[in-house]
Amino acid sequence: MAKRDYYEVLGVARDASQEEIKKAYRKLARQYHPDANPGDKNAEEKFKEIAEAYEVLSDPEKRASYDRFGHAGVNGQGFGGFGEGFGDFGGLGDIFDMFFGGAARARRGPQKGADIRVDVEISFKEAAFGVEKDIRVPRVEECESCRGTGAAPGTSPVKCPLCGGTGQVQFSQSTPFGRIMQTYTCDRCRGTGRIIEKPCGACHGAGQVRRARSIHIKIPPGVDTGTRLRVAGEGEAGIRGGPRGDLYVYINVRPHRLFKREGNDIICEMPISFAQAALGDELEVPTLEGTAKIRIPEGTQHGTEFRLRGKGIPDLNGYGRGDQYVRVKVVTPTRLTERQKQLLREFAALSGENPAGESKGFFEKVRDAFMG
Ligand SMILES: [Zn+2]
Ligand SMILES: [Zn+2]
Repeated sequence: MAKRDYYEVLGVARDASQEEIKKAYRKLARQYHPDANPGDKNAEEKFKEIAEAYEVLSDPEKRASYDRFGHAGVNGQGFGGFGEGFGDFGGLGDIFDMFFGGAARARRGPQKGADIRVDVEISFKEAAFGVEKDIRVPRVEECESCRGTGAAPGTSPVKCPLCGGTGQVQFSQSTPFGRIMQTYTCDRCRGTGRIIEKPCGACHGAGQVRRARSIHIKIPPGVDTGTRLRVAGEGEAGIRGGPRGDLYVYINVRPHRLFKREGNDIICEMPISFAQAALGDELEVPTLEGTAKIRIPEGTQHGTEFRLRGKGIPDLNGYGRGDQYVRVKVVTPTRLTERQKQLLREFAALSGENPAGESKGFFEKVRDAFMG
């Protein structure tokens, strides 16, 4: 089988730059890599062809030789074993690491700081109407003495002598496929390219210290237990100049003595006397913002709910406001005086009842009817 022209294989012009060759290779290698085409012999052949073309065209010396002498110019230069030795490659990631990915991956650039969770307990009313609070958050801060460099004040980190400041060390290796440059993260500077000769005393060279910081937060109206608020950029300090993480505030609402919450509505129970229930009355009831008056009609039953429109909790997303429900609770009187008892007996007699048991009253009649 005749070998195809390497430039044609990669689909680049003869005067393509190294960058263009690299780009073309990368694109094709991804497309035809055996990992992406399991069991596809054609793809595997194609991939070998692409790798071989790249091996030559990416090396200025080999490329020059190929340009002048064609395939003959580069044959027998140590990559004839591609066919059999191919299995020695690892996955797609390894290939990219080997040719160009390794350097990018090893470089340790700025990193965003970690997020922090803080739990905040607030009152029922604070949840309803919102509140501003200063909370203490222990977190990692940039060291003030060294401004995060980790170097003692007056000094600064210097270029790593081992890698020359690149953060990577390259090794050239002879393999059945030819000479391969492998890139590793520099051990000395851990990929940062800089080392600290005299560490900062305050942070021992870390560039960061942990301290409790007071952070002002605004809790909007309508939050409830379980609401999570994000305060952007108030988390842990970033690494190597990366941005701060975020602060997440988890809300916990203390229960209220009078009010219960159901969504954006609130419910309260209002004890009333038997006389009020029977005769009707005007009641003053507590609300979140003071008091309100409700009129209960004659003959109000135990458990009846009265609605106070718009007296509930403002919606967290701004969709209006819930209602307040007042549930009346008829309280049976205890510790009656003799006179009160007398009046109640008279009342019962007028109602056709006889609580003393001389004849069957209304409730006994009902009970008998049920019992059959
Ligand atoms: Zn420091
Ligand atoms: Zn280094």
